[in-house]
Parts: sequence; structure tokens; C-alpha cells
Amino acid sequence: MFPAAFIQQMQTLLGSDCDTFLSALQEDSRTSIRLNKAKPARLNYNLSRPALWCDGGFYLEKRPLFTLDPFIHGGAYYVQEASSMFLAHVVKQLRKKSDLKTALDLCAAPGGKSTLLADNLPENTLLVANEVIHSRANILCENISKWGSPGVVVTNNDPKDFASLPNFFDLIAVDAPCSGEGMFRKDEKTCDEWSEANVQLCAERQRRILADVWDSLKVGGYLVYSTCTFNSKENEENVWWMQQELGAQSIKIAIPLKWGIATSEEINLSENLRGAYGYRFFPHKVKGEGLFISVLQKTAGDSFPSRSESKNKHTIKYADNQDVEVWLRDADRLIFSQKGDEIFAVKAEHAAFISKVENSLRVMQCGVQAATLKGKDAIPTASLALSTQLNREAFTQQDVDLKDALLFLKKEAFASQSQSRGFELICYENTSLGFVKNLGNRCNNLYPQEWRIRMRINER
Ligand code: SAM
Repeated sequence: MFPAAFIQQMQTLLGSDCDTFLSALQEDSRTSIRLNKAKPARLNYNLSRPALWCDGGFYLEKRPLFTLDPFIHGGAYYVQEASSMFLAHVVKQLRKKSDLKTALDLCAAPGGKSTLLADNLPENTLLVANEVIHSRANILCENISKWGSPGVVVTNNDPKDFASLPNFFDLIAVDAPCSGEGMFRKDEKTCDEWSEANVQLCAERQRRILADVWDSLKVGGYLVYSTCTFNSKENEENVWWMQQELGAQSIKIAIPLKWGIATSEEINLSENLRGAYGYRFFPHKVKGEGLFISVLQKTAGDSFPSRSESKNKHTIKYADNQDVEVWLRDADRLIFSQKGDEIFAVKAEHAAFISKVENSLRVMQCGVQAATLKGKDAIPTASLALSTQLNREAFTQQDVDLKDALLFLKKEAFASQSQSRGFELICYENTSLGFVKNLGNRCNNLYPQEWRIRMRINER
């Protein structure tokens, strides 16, 4: 049962629609996936029900056991709630207005919106995917690696740390931690933990996050603010606050009526919130969970140079390793750098931006994590196998069936199918999963320990 204060709040917002809304909020939630455009695969799902606002977004009939599908581990698709995919439509519109060279996903873990941004931003955009909680930042790295886009840097910073990158980003997405009313039917705990006091705390934290990152947005740049909650305190009131306190301008996004997405103008808000536009996904109108999204533009402010720019310190430590270079496509357009024992490859056009990011933030992963050095030897990483920048021709490919693909993903002992020696790329139906080192009579499974499937498969 929903808390009485929540029902009252929704009655105020929705009036006579509230009962229909509340019954929809008790229905089972829908499962949806978003395909990776760069990794076409023959998925075993019925993909006849598209999420209308996102190319490659589909509803599934029921929730399969995703863990046992090698394609998900190969980054061929991402399980993402359909409403969240609306960000693709927003980005499509912003691309028409602005040259989006640098983008930040500030609250990025586990990586749903970052992988969507990586697919929908212009190809040469540098995307910084940030997560403040370290354990969640590790999961973000894993999901970014599996998606395989080369133009992403993962950082692990508090929003206030972005003060050292003023006027840096053309686009900032703030998918803020919130009271999660839109997730009540997906996660009962969110409903049990809900209180008006917590809504207030969330709204205040969101304002702090927004204020902390605002200077990092370029003048003329866009901030996309989203939550998965329904109350107006965390939504339109925060948009209104950004207009008043930060000088942000609320921007309208064109949406076809048939999508069923409501605008803030269609709900009962106090008069003073009228100019704070947002888009709302209600479960009685749209197949998806509750989402609020609003686009704001920074129309004024100081265009002062970035402090790290004035230091002019180039932190990328270049690595010269010809073995590794042949493992990547278009290596002449990449810059190889070393951090500890890891060799990363970044797009040459991103190097200057990345230097500034490295001067200011805690970078966990940068472009393609291509190899780990062990003494003089370079060992190809799973991230390389999963990267769209992989040069497949540099490796012998071992095609495995479902049973062996799952054994590989469980990081179990792996029999050699050939007598050859060296690193081999393990592929399931042409989707690459990772590397083994073939020793002739057996293979060393190089799949990362922390990514392995932990489930006991024959216990199903
Ligand atoms: N954008 C993600 C996606 O699509 O997969 C979901 C993000 S989730 C709604 C909000 C994220 O904000 C969480 O990963 C959480 O750890 C992070 N977070 C929590 N407190 C924060 C804070 N004070 N500042 C910034 N991020 C915070």
C-alpha cells in the first residue's frame, strides 16, 4: 500500500486521473532493452514492440534470465527501463542546436544513460561518465567497457570537484539520486522508505549537486536534469530554483502527442512554477517507469578559462608499444598512454580535453583500456575484446557454442580447440567476449575475475 501522504500529493498533481495512476503503479513493471548499434547480434527475443522515442529500444514480453545470455556480456544490448531511453530523443534535438564536443554524465552508475549517450552523441564527442561512489564506479567501468565505445572517460568524483573544470562541457546530464517514487512498483523497498522528510532531503541534495556542477557547463551549453520521481519538489521546483538561482533557462523539447508523455503544463502545479518545463512519464499513460526530465540552457555567465588550461600541464604519459598498436583499428588516429601497468588508447582529438580532465579529476578508465603490462609482455584485456576499436584481424578467433561461452564467462578452465599458441579472441556468434591465452594443450582464461558469472548454472 502506498503512504497516505504520497497519495495525497499525487491527488493534488493529477486530480481525477489519480486513481488510474495509482492502479497502473501497482501493475507489473515492463522489461525493456536497448540494442548496441555498433554490435549487431541475432538476439533470441521478440523485438516487435519498440520504445518509440529511442532507436534500438524494445519492450520484451517477459523478463528472461539475462545472466545466461552471452550477448549481454558482449555488450550487444543493455537492459534499460524504457522511459529512461527518452534521453536519446532529447539529445537528438540538442544536436540540432549545438556542437556537442564535450559531455558529462555526472551521476552515471551503473551506466544506462552513459551507454545511451555514447551511442547518441556525435561520434567525436568526449563523454565523461562520473560516479561518486567508488564501488558503483567500478560497475560503471565494467558496463562502459562492455558497451565498447572508445570516446568515454570514467571518473570517480564528488560533484564539487568539477569546480576545477569551469566552462568545460557543452552538455551535462544530471540523473540525480532521488526519492524514487517512479520505481515503487519495481522496488518495494523504495516505497517502504518513502517519507515527506526524505523527499525534502533529496530535493536539497539535488540543488547542491546542480549548484556544484553548474560552473562546469559552458555558456550556451545544456544541462539535462532527470529524476525517477513524481513529486514536484524534486522536479519542477528544482527547475524553477535553477532558473532563479543559477540563471538557467528552461528549454522546450518537441514531442509527438501519441507518445503519451505529459508536460509539466498538464499537471496541477502552483502558478509560479509555470515557466519550469519538464516532461513526465506516468505509468497510466506510458509503458515505463516514472521519469521526469527537463532541459536547461546556460544563457549567461563568465566565460573564464579553465584553471587547468592555464597550468597547461599535459599529464598523458605516452606509451610506445607496437604490439599493442596493431591490436586496435585506426591506431594512427589514437594516442596510447600508460597509467601504472595499464595501456589506454584515446582518440587523438580527445587528448587535450583528457589532459585537462586528468589534471582535475580521479580518472578510473580512459578510452580503450587496451592492455596490461606484465614485465615486458603486453596482455590484451577484456575491454579491448569488447571495444569497437578492436582489430579482430590481429587475433585468432575461437568461436564457441553457448555452453563454452558460459564456461568462459564463468572464468572456468577452458579447453583448447586448436593446437596454436598465443592470445585468442573468444566469440559467441561473432560477438566477442574476451581473450584466452592458448598454451597448446589448454587455455588460460583471461576473463576478469570481477566480471565473471557467479551463478551456478546447472542449478537452474
Ligand atoms: N544515470 C544512471 C543510469 O542511467 O544508469 C543512474 C543514476 S542513479 C539515478 C543516481 C546516481 O547518483 C547513483 O549512482 C548514486 O550513486 C549517485 N549519487 C548518490 N549521491 C550522490 C551525490 N551526492 N552526488 C552525485 N551523485 C550521487
